[in-house]
Amino acid sequence: MIPTDGYSEVRETMVRHQIESRGIQDQRVLAAMRKVPRHEFVPVSKQREAYEDRPLEIGSGQTISQPYIVAKMTELLALTPDSRVLEVGTGSGYQAAVLAELASEVVSVERFEELAGVAQARLEALEYGNVTVVVGDGTLGCRERAPYDGILVTAAAPQLPEALRSQLAIGGRLVCPVGSRDLQQLKIVVRKGEAEFDEHESIRCMFVPLMGREGWSG
Ligand code: SAH
Repeated sequence: MIPTDGYSEVRETMVRHQIESRGIQDQRVLAAMRKVPRHEFVPVSKQREAYEDRPLEIGSGQTISQPYIVAKMTELLALTPDSRVLEVGTGSGYQAAVLAELASEVVSVERFEELAGVAQARLEALEYGNVTVVVGDGTLGCRERAPYDGILVTAAAPQLPEALRSQLAIGGRLVCPVGSRDLQQLKIVVRKGEAEFDEHESIRCMFVPLMGREGWSG
């Protein structure tokens, strides 16, 4: 059911004007974008801007991604209701909530303890019981819970982290922005077999840097 909060109209406008109009067609993704209360994932002082066509600052120098890019990356993952998903870069927890609408289980890794704590509390308050937020270096994935049917990196990587590739299930998909610190392109990796991977590229994008062992160093 679509929640009726003070933002349901503006959320509907966001979906029509920013997401459907730019070519996102997956009905499950559109339904999730219509449902998740994005304003609950930004600081109270920014709630009125939550449905605008851009990223917003969320503290610790990090941002919640633009709604369109959240929908685009989610569509590229091609999730089914029984998918298990790993997200790298919890941030506000918004993308994790969108994934939680579409998959059976979401593990989301965040390097900043404070962001992770706020996101986990928010997700619990909104009753996303199928999301677990883990504090750590997400470039190494989360081996204990691997393999994953979908892996989504929501920060900019200098190259595809090998650990993430190895934690994909056969048939699973990895979506990751790869490039320089200023501009990246979405890379999609599909694991076809134990050692067989298909790779292709999608749109250009701009994310905050992915730090860590297989990310940027400083
Ligand atoms: N998906 C988020 C937005 C991500 S912003 C949302 O929906 O709000 C990118 C996030 O990646 C930031 O919170 C940043 O702290 C985190 N990050 C960067 N490098 C990381 C790493 N190696 N492991 C885990 N998180 C990382």
